[in-house]
Amino acid sequence: MKIGIYANSGRASRTVAAELRQKFTERRFELDDDHPDVVISIGGDGTLLSAFHHYEDQLATVRFIGVHTGHLGFYTDWRSDELDDLVISLQNENQQAVSYPLLDVRVKFAGDPHPHDYLALNEATIRRLTATMMTDVYVGGEFFERFRGDGLCVSTPTGSTGYNKSLGGAIVHPNLDVLQMSEISSINNRVFRTLSAPMIIAPNDWITLIPSKEGAVIMTVDSDYYHDQQIERMRFRIAKQRIYFAKSRHTRFWQRVQDSFIGPDYED
Ligand code: NAP
Ligand code: MN
Repeated sequence: MKIGIYANSGRASRTVAAELRQKFTERRFELDDDHPDVVISIGGDGTLLSAFHHYEDQLATVRFIGVHTGHLGFYTDWRSDELDDLVISLQNENQQAVSYPLLDVRVKFAGDPHPHDYLALNEATIRRLTATMMTDVYVGGEFFERFRGDGLCVSTPTGSTGYNKSLGGAIVHPNLDVLQMSEISSINNRVFRTLSAPMIIAPNDWITLIPSKEGAVIMTVDSDYYHDQQIERMRFRIAKQRIYFAKSRHTRFWQRVQDSFIGPDYED
């Protein structure tokens, strides 16, 4: 089994990375950051997001493991004081994996005949900062609404606890192959009308946005943003690819939601 180690630049993460490299070498694992079977991300959820994008073109063959050096995250199951257990569990395991859906975003930029594809683990958004964003929204190819407001966010189930949650979106169990669209400050009055509620679309459905030509919008994909090209059209659907996590330890989803947002020992 070949192990890749992907750490953020924090001091704690670099220390954990060095310790892990040593433990893996002692136990005769091969270290290979270029073509690993297992990627160990060390840091926070943001670090796992960038590890995901770093290995985006190897998703079919890579399984991820998250070690957190700060607080418990949604993609980070292991604490940094459990490294021996982590190494042993990888030595004994049978390459088990659990997989979650990803978001595929196809963008047609003005003046470019070829569409561009982006893959998101958490979400993609389009936003306008300087004035009201206006976009037509289609669901499954049918016109749904003309949105006016700050922007729209389309998230995956595992991303539903991120930005989506701050926007009032529902938390979606990651065993469901669905996408959620949530609004960022929509304008609603006697003239303008939007759904004004988060929407969860079925596995085979898709959302298309055709933004107004006036004014530049920015697009975000997880931690990245794009703003230099005018977006003509965006299409969001569940990706063919999925992300795989090693199953050696995997906290129950609702347990993790409770740990993160409610806190431990809340019940009396
Ligand atoms: P960041 O600004 O450090 O992230 C903001 C927070 O979101 C961090 O606490 C991060 O955890 C947490 N987070 C990331 N993915 C999550 C998930 N799937 N479920 C629950 N929390 C999650 O930037 P970043 O670390 O590069 O992460 C980018 C993500 O931040 C975006 O994909 C978006 O989901 C989220 N975000 C949220 C808001 C908001 O809520 N208003 C605004 C912008 C972005 P760590 O500290 O462990 O990294
Ligand atoms: Mn972060």
